[in-house]
Amino acid sequence: MPTSNLYDTQSLRERDAAHHWHPFTDTKELGANSRVIVGGEGVWIEDSEGNRILDGMAGLWCTQVGHGRREIADAVYAQMTKLAYYNTFFKTTHPPVLELAEKVASLAPPHMNRVFFTGSGSESNDTVIRMVRRYWDLKGKPHKKTIIARRNGYHGSTVGGASLGGMTPMHGQGDLPIPGIVHIAQPYWFGEGGDLSPAEFGLKAARALEAAIDAFGADRIAAFIAEPVQGAGGVIIPPETYWPEIARICRERDILLVVDEVICGFGRLGEWFGSVHFGVEPDLMPIAKGLSSGYLPIGGVVVSDRVADVVIGEGGEFYHGYTYSGHPAACAAALANLAIIEREKLVDRVRDDIGPYLQARWRALGEHPLVGEARMIGLMGALELVPEKTGRAVRFNAPLGDVGALCRDFAFANGLVMRGVRDSMIISPPLVISHDEADELVARARLTLDATHAELKRRGLV
Ligand code: PMP
Repeated sequence: MPTSNLYDTQSLRERDAAHHWHPFTDTKELGANSRVIVGGEGVWIEDSEGNRILDGMAGLWCTQVGHGRREIADAVYAQMTKLAYYNTFFKTTHPPVLELAEKVASLAPPHMNRVFFTGSGSESNDTVIRMVRRYWDLKGKPHKKTIIARRNGYHGSTVGGASLGGMTPMHGQGDLPIPGIVHIAQPYWFGEGGDLSPAEFGLKAARALEAAIDAFGADRIAAFIAEPVQGAGGVIIPPETYWPEIARICRERDILLVVDEVICGFGRLGEWFGSVHFGVEPDLMPIAKGLSSGYLPIGGVVVSDRVADVVIGEGGEFYHGYTYSGHPAACAAALANLAIIEREKLVDRVRDDIGPYLQARWRALGEHPLVGEARMIGLMGALELVPEKTGRAVRFNAPLGDVGALCRDFAFANGLVMRGVRDSMIISPPLVISHDEADELVARARLTLDATHAELKRRGLV
């Protein structure tokens, strides 16, 4: 890692505050108070003050192989010195893009054999909207255009991605969603399950899809899109009854099933794709993040034969693509990343070893007086913070999100990145996290909970 005393933190913060507009940030309120991150190795990041922080979020759910992997940098360097950029429009290709398409198709379920590359998860979901609509036009069903998505889902930040997402604060800025997208309830048992058992609630949440399709008419519904496990919404793990019922409904009503694998893809749930974990067969899978472990920006849509046979097979030219679709250096980064995941057997490791190991320790945090539920699947987990353990839906007597933000700040002070979503805390560490580091993560999370609890007591909130 770099030597941090080379950095003049205050000057960096001031320069940042002068010109940099931060994503998903109140940039004015932030002012010259950014954390300046200068290095990363394995599961650790280092700030400009020399603090080592355990990156419990794998960046933004993306650094599957951890930080600082030289072989990815070397692969990118080698590709850049050969061919740093060329496009894949106009009847051209290049070795890294064809190899990566081949590789992703070999990892994807057998019925999915085509990959359309993009620069990000948001672009992938915009591509999904275009593909889905094109598919039904070509099938001679031009009225099948509406896409059903879920409240509190996240599918990106472009106009299309934010519209598919069900984040009301995002919708409130800029008149979203665009027409042709409707949202149904999410399978969030802790928050919305009422008196139902998880299994009953899972069926109820899935049947909201059936009800919405029947209300609009199946002849007007093009697709349903969902994350296998909602990530940005707060690591919401659907009850086991949910996905099989969703798959049944889509199949029976002839609705395309889009499974957004941007977070769950590439090992996060202990399978190459989250849909494999839940046993469903998607028609389209948007991907990004873990595809390159975030070393360079790249995403894509993995397409089933059902859709490709129509849109490619019968559709002629598809007027869609990005300058950076199949960027050679990004493809080289992705190939090197996937080679590491395969060589180090990280997917099996999440399913059989580190996944169960961390899950057991994380769930034990459920005993803490501040925790209403500690859940984890694969290597993504959440802690629901509650003022008292009397029931699931009890809220703090403070604006929603204040306690989560307080806890997140204590986490940073304890050298751990945990993200606050509402009043829950979430983690999604790199897949390479060792047993000792997993213990360290849980120890720091526990200290963070203790500090948050003490502060809430002081404020009379618990
Ligand atoms: N889909 C999901 C499920 C995501 O979690 C995200 C990003 N957090 C996106 C799409 C958007 O990806 P990007 O930020 O790369 O545009």
